[in-house]
Amino acid sequence: MLRLTNVSKEYPRSGAALRDISFEMRKGEFVFLVGHSGAGKSTLLKLLSMAERPTTGELRISGFSSLSIKQREIPILRRRLGIVFQDFRLLPDRTAEQNVAFALEVTGAPHAQIRPKVARLLTQVGLASKATAFPHELSGGEQQRVAIARALANDPFVLLADEPTGNLDDRATHAIFLLLREINAQGTAVLMATHDVAMIQRSNLRFLELDHGELVHDGTDVARLLAD
Ligand code: ADP
Ligand code: ADP
Repeated sequence: MLRLTNVSKEYPRSGAALRDISFEMRKGEFVFLVGHSGAGKSTLLKLLSMAERPTTGELRISGFSSLSIKQREIPILRRRLGIVFQDFRLLPDRTAEQNVAFALEVTGAPHAQIRPKVARLLTQVGLASKATAFPHELSGGEQQRVAIARALANDPFVLLADEPTGNLDDRATHAIFLLLREINAQGTAVLMATHDVAMIQRSNLRFLELDHGELVHDGTDVARLLAD
């Protein structure tokens, strides 16, 4: 489903952001991506959405290869991915339901299907009662639920979440994590970048640990996180 083979990424002035990374993720897996600020987490997620290309090595995702994907194919790949950001990135002048509908409109979904699908997605994320609220009327946790509903709109096979709980308090963090677990239980793979070592320790799930661009752990050995 997704595989990196000896992937490195260098930026012109800052040098190596990722060094010789290899791993794969299977269909329906839940994987954390952990590491200090600057470790390369966002860079890795941007490579997966082909917003950036590796400097060397190969990345394969959903049948596309970083070595051969064409510029015009990138939007096709993006539609198969759900992307969630730390800062939500909702359109401020649109309601929750309009934000979710927008993701369907831009991919040319049949008009008659949009309304019922938006309602279903908002129900799935527990926000049916706030469908007509604007982002500024919602808490951070609620805004992130809208962003997750939007990310799910085109039935992605994987959700790429870049510190989705980074702006949330403990309670909202826990709720969003549970929501991502539920979405995963229904078959969508999730790759979740986080600083939250305690969350990883409690959950006993696979994690990838980056340190200065190197993949220093791929597994479930949380004892090493305690040591940091
Ligand atoms: P993280 O998400 O783990 O905080 P990043 O992937 O954002 O880490 O950054 C990894 C390294 O790459 C950092 O040293 C950062 O300064 C550098 N970097 C990230 N994006 C760019 C860019 N667009 N241009 C130059 N350097 C970048
Ligand atoms: P940047 O954050 O480098 O300014 P943009 O916000 O312009 O990039 O995003 C351009 C596209 O790149 C987004 O639509 C998204 O597909 C992808 N992208 C940006 N940041 C990430 C990320 N952290 N994880 C995954 N994909 C990303």
